[in-house]
Amino acid sequence: MSNTTNKLKQIKEEVIECKKCSLYKTRTLPVVGAGSHNANIMFVGEAPGANEDKTGIPFCGKAGKILDELLESQGIKREDVYICNILKCRPPQNRDPQREEKEACVSYLEKQIQIIRPSVICTLGNHATEYIFKKFNLKEKLQGISKIHGQTFDSSLFYPIKIISMYHPAVATYNANMKDVLKEDFKILKQFKDIEKLETEENVGIVKAEQDKLL
Ligand code: URA
Ligand code: SF4
Repeated sequence: MSNTTNKLKQIKEEVIECKKCSLYKTRTLPVVGAGSHNANIMFVGEAPGANEDKTGIPFCGKAGKILDELLESQGIKREDVYICNILKCRPPQNRDPQREEKEACVSYLEKQIQIIRPSVICTLGNHATEYIFKKFNLKEKLQGISKIHGQTFDSSLFYPIKIISMYHPAVATYNANMKDVLKEDFKILKQFKDIEKLETEENVGIVKAEQDKLL
């Protein structure tokens, strides 16, 4: 098992035991993340919904179907990207995540980012966008998602990375026109899908340097 996989497994174990906020009491299964441990593109959503809570799989309900369609429209396979959320446990009745919950949970997401080291983080919706922009020193660029959807921002907090803010796919479940907007915005991701990463630790630096040149 690769080092990356071992480290991600450890996070999963920590999340399963986690009691850092009260959401562990009401959730069924935590939703840690899914996809390639070597992904070049990471998607960050808000929090698990009812289907995710039952299965432990991120974006497996209605919003997930839309995400799958958007990925497919760009020839991107779900198994080649990594998908996770700001919160790992479902808020009751899908209410908005609270500030204390986000503060308690984001250390897991930060570790996931540092372990996987994607070249691109695609934020889905306002909650993820707000958090990631603040984390990656892009606070002054932060606006509502209706203003900055589909835009790319450069950051170099841990290493050079692109942050792309997108509408949350769930918007297309109650407004069909939004799917076209999302599809248009997702076109930007196509250029990142084929950048290969090698698995070994010593190669990561080299591959990353190559990717940075390409970005
Ligand atoms: N909405 C999210 O933000 N995340 C999921 O995993 C599912 C729906
Ligand atoms: Fe822990 Fe996050 Fe679940 Fe809260 S939401 S219990 S911080 S894993």
